[in-house]
Amino acid sequence: MPRDSKEEDLISMVYKLVLESGDGGILQSELWKKLSLTSRDGSRIATRLEKRKLIKRDKVLEDGRWTYRLKPLVVPLSIESIADAPCITCPLYYKCYEDGAVSPRTCTKIEGWVVTEYQRATSVSTVSAGEINEAG
Ligand code: SF4
Repeated sequence: MPRDSKEEDLISMVYKLVLESGDGGILQSELWKKLSLTSRDGSRIATRLEKRKLIKRDKVLEDGRWTYRLKPLVVPLSIESIADAPCITCPLYYKCYEDGAVSPRTCTKIEGWVVTEYQRATSVSTVSAGEINEAG
């Protein structure tokens, strides 16, 4: 698996676990343990999610030591759907805005994700024109 793809998978996994922790959040040390991450790698990923305003890091005193509790900034209706959203790991995230050169309006990645999520939510399967003609 290419390095970037592995990093994107880790970012999604960290974000998903923070979302699942709810409003109370999760200690970063617990999270690194669950994912077998070094504190250096874990902190780098947490910083990326924080910069994207997806999580916040609250400094807390735990067993006499300062550490961080990671909390979701926005809790979506469905954790499964948002954790797979392409924007979470997109390298163009900072350049992407409504009328920008990169935009959610023209992005094929977000379009594909929305269609898949819609189909999953409604359990609607795509029917080809041939199948409609055969049925009709
Ligand atoms: S809309 Fe597309 S280009 Fe923009 S941040 Fe999301 S995945 Fe990246």
